[in-house]
Amino acid sequence: MELDKMDENDWKYHGEGNKSLVVSHVQHPRVLRLLKYPAEDSENPPQTAEQAYRQIQNIVDFSSNVMSSLLGEKFIHSGEVVKLPLEFVRQLSIKVQHQRPAWRCDKVMDIYSGCALCLPNLTSPALHQPTHTPPLCIEIKPKCGFLPSPKHVSKDIKTKVCRYCMHQHYKVANGKWKRRSFYCPLDLFSGNRQRMHFAIRHLIEEPQNNFKVFKGGQCIYSSKEGSDESPDMNSLLHHLRPYFLHTNNRMNSHVTSKAVLNDFIQVLVNALLSSGGGDGSVVADRQAEGRGFCEASIFNKERIRHGSRGLPSDSVLFRILQTQMLDTLDIEGLYPLYRQVEQHLQDFPKERTRLQIEGPYNEAFLEKLQKCPSENDGSVEYAVAKVHQYRVAMTAKDCSIMVALVPSSEEEEDNERCENKILRKINTTVYCLSSQRQLRDFRPPAFSYSASILDLDPKPFDSIPRQLRLDQKIVSCYLRTGGALP
Ligand code: ATP
Ligand code: ZN
Ligand code: MG
Ligand code: MG
Repeated sequence: MELDKMDENDWKYHGEGNKSLVVSHVQHPRVLRLLKYPAEDSENPPQTAEQAYRQIQNIVDFSSNVMSSLLGEKFIHSGEVVKLPLEFVRQLSIKVQHQRPAWRCDKVMDIYSGCALCLPNLTSPALHQPTHTPPLCIEIKPKCGFLPSPKHVSKDIKTKVCRYCMHQHYKVANGKWKRRSFYCPLDLFSGNRQRMHFAIRHLIEEPQNNFKVFKGGQCIYSSKEGSDESPDMNSLLHHLRPYFLHTNNRMNSHVTSKAVLNDFIQVLVNALLSSGGGDGSVVADRQAEGRGFCEASIFNKERIRHGSRGLPSDSVLFRILQTQMLDTLDIEGLYPLYRQVEQHLQDFPKERTRLQIEGPYNEAFLEKLQKCPSENDGSVEYAVAKVHQYRVAMTAKDCSIMVALVPSSEEEEDNERCENKILRKINTTVYCLSSQRQLRDFRPPAFSYSASILDLDPKPFDSIPRQLRLDQKIVSCYLRTGGALP
């Protein structure tokens, strides 16, 4: 990319979140991720160009030095900071404005700093030689996959109903979404194929901002916030059908929509459980502690016939869950430690640097959080380590997984068919007991899968008090209305 010859016509709107707006290159598999500001600050940006540069460099460092070591390098693409011509950024912002969803327009794209994060475009992977059929990429924002330990929470409900499910009630009560989603992260993170299947089906039905599908780099399925309409499932099925026409090793154009959807979900479950090398031993610790099942999930426990197997230890979900579980104290147990650090910084402002409160996010930062004493010895080092751990866990609770499914070419398919026989055998054993009719003929369509993790920004130190307030609001809303909503 020649930074002095940037042309806005080479870039198009790709998507956005709460903090950043993403544009993709029309030819090369690359994206630019630009910062956003509240619209009322549009005339005078909240930070200087140097501060914006520092913020993005911090994101790169946090991702490459901290999150990558916790989540596994193979899943992470940290990218690099780029300095763009201001005229290009201005033109780009005008160009993409009309494509932005109205409900995101309370923020504007940063056009003053000229800084952006340049990343590989994870929705147009080049895993194999280009095939005729474009890759399918599925983005899942899984959220927190475990219940907090009873030791640290003041309200019993928090040990029974997961944060996501409680938050759903809050969001519906506040009009952010019209309908509640029946997705529960504890089902997705269970490692049990039936529960995972169930979770993904509910993500598809009510995607909110937790589920998107891209085909050949274009978003073909997502939710519109505040809208009454459900996203167009028929259109999704129409896109998916050509990928899932094989049953019983024959092309079959009469495959029902239900079968297409089932095959799609099952391929996704396989991709999420695939180990990508390594031993893949299965770990099921949360289940044993009873912290892996949410009472608000409408998945019927009786349906689990084979118990929970847990997640393979080198799967993307396992790595995310382990990192989320660095939040060992819950916000309620953490908050007093946060206050201790805050007080210490007021007394000794120079300590901010040594304790790496705002970074730098380097090896030493990682070491601080990994070498945390197991008991609270009253030291500020202990408090800081717990705060760092909590912030890292917050990032892991907020990240997204991008699963890329690249259809194999014909000859690869023949090779893979042999390998898949083993897989198919496992699938059939697991499934034939539960859903005989649908899955008896299932042959996993031949895809190569890969998984990446994106959106790994550090969460600010001073966002912790806000977290506590939000937690209190969500819990009290749930206790007032909970269970009452359908
Ligand atoms: P959030 O509100 O979830 O915190 P955010 O503002 O931090 O979001 P991202 O999630 O990083 O922003 O990016 C917004 C969207 O842009 C993503 O949901 C994804 O669809 C797309 N996106 C981000 N990075 C990439 C990438 N490297 N390749 C392809 N698409 C991407
Ligand atoms: Zn739940
Ligand atoms: Mg995001
Ligand atoms: Mg984010």
